[in-house]
Order: sequence, then structure tokens, then C-alpha cells
Amino acid sequence: MRIILLGPPGAGKGTLAKLLKEALNIAHISTGDILREEMKNQTPLGMEIKKLVESGALVPDEIVTKIIENKLTANKNGAQGYMLDGFPRTKVQAEQLDAILTKIRHPIDVALYMEASVPVIIQRLTGRRVCKKCGAPFHIKNRPPKKQDICDLCGGELYQRPDDNEETIRKRMKVYLESTAPIVDYYHAQRKLVKVDADKESEILKDELMQLFNDQGKASHKSGHGPLKSS
Ligand code: AMP
Repeated sequence: MRIILLGPPGAGKGTLAKLLKEALNIAHISTGDILREEMKNQTPLGMEIKKLVESGALVPDEIVTKIIENKLTANKNGAQGYMLDGFPRTKVQAEQLDAILTKIRHPIDVALYMEASVPVIIQRLTGRRVCKKCGAPFHIKNRPPKKQDICDLCGGELYQRPDDNEETIRKRMKVYLESTAPIVDYYHAQRKLVKVDADKESEILKDELMQLFNDQGKASHKSGHGPLKSS
């Protein structure tokens, strides 16, 4: 399956993607994770984008689109299935993605729009902690690690992302509303959009989505139509 995860910062895209990755056995491609890795390794690209990412601004379209194009064409992710997490974030990126997908002839099946309320978003982002080593997500209240500041999975140190402070979160929300929210309509018009209530716990959401994918898969098998019905 080929899925795009859409939604504001704090909707739980990364957490849901990690759960669906296991359940569906498909790749998880997160532009945010890729950019943070570049910053951690202090590559020329990492140095170039650091200020933008840490201030909550968007990285230029051509940089992120190139990253995605390389990922989708290099290792057969296009054919085997993937989740795009954090991309596209602008209408230009959405159009460029369509051009790439047309070229590799693997259109997306569904754009999952994860709708979350502002108090839930703020609570999630301010309490979020991430493993420095493996990237596993934790939360000081909702998903605390067994040992304080230590990753349950790999023993790595947990840290708070520099863009997860209230001021930068407000900026990211503004950027989301101005640049990213309009592309929800773009996928609605393509009849690819499926809206989900992202205030729910990620585990519950994952179970509901797996049920939906199974039901729709059976229905499309019978009717010969595409795998999902859009909202
Ligand atoms: P995320 O991990 O998805 O919250 O992304 C963290 C930051 O990386 C964003 O606030 C942007 O600065 C940058 N970023 C990630 N994906 C994109 C994208 N598709 N377009 C532009 N900037 C991005």
C-alpha cells in the first residue's frame, strides 16, 4: 500500500507510521527524520537547513522533493509500498510528487488526513521525547519510558526536539495552516482522502485503520475497484 500521512504537527503521524509499518510491512519515509539525520551528521545540507528546521520554518520545496524522489526511485519503495510522513507539505510539493509518481507509475492509494484538536496537539508536542539513537517516540505522560530519559527499545538517551517548545510550536501551526492545510483539498479532489480522528490513541487508530484497509481490500477485490473509498 502507498499512503500519505497528512495532518498538523502533533497529530501523531510518526507514531502511527511506526505502528502501521510493522502491521503492513511497508517503508516509513519521514522527511523530518531524514533532515534531522543530516543535521546530526553535520552534512552540508544539514548545516544549510538547521536554522529553518529549528525555527519551525519549511525547508525549500526543491530540497525535500529531491530527497523524496531519490527515496522512491532508488530502492523500489514505489513498488513495495510506503508511508510518506511529513511530505508533501505544500501544494508545489504535492504537484511535484504527482509528477514523480506518474513517472514511476505507482500512484498513492490513500491520503490519511489526521485531524487533531489544538489542546491535544500542544499537550503531545510539549511532552514529546525522542530517542537520540533509534528515533522511537515517547511522551512524559502518555507513553513514559520505563527508566527516565532512557529508550525502552535500545537504551539510547531521550531528548526533547528543539522545535518542540511552545513558541516554535505556534510558528509550526501557523506554517501548517498557511502552507499544508490547503493540500487536504487537493487530495479530496483526487478522491484519495480518508479523514481520521487523530485525538485518539495511536494504537486504537492503527487497529481501526487495519480493519478499514481489510474491509476495503475485500470490497475492492469483489468489485475490481481501487483499494479505498475516499471521504
Ligand atoms: P517533522 O518531523 O515532520 O515535524 O518536520 C520537522 C521540520 O522539518 C519541519 O518543521 C520543517 O522545518 C522540516 N520539514 C520536514 N518535512 C518538510 C517538508 N516536506 N517540506 C519542508 N520542510 C519540511
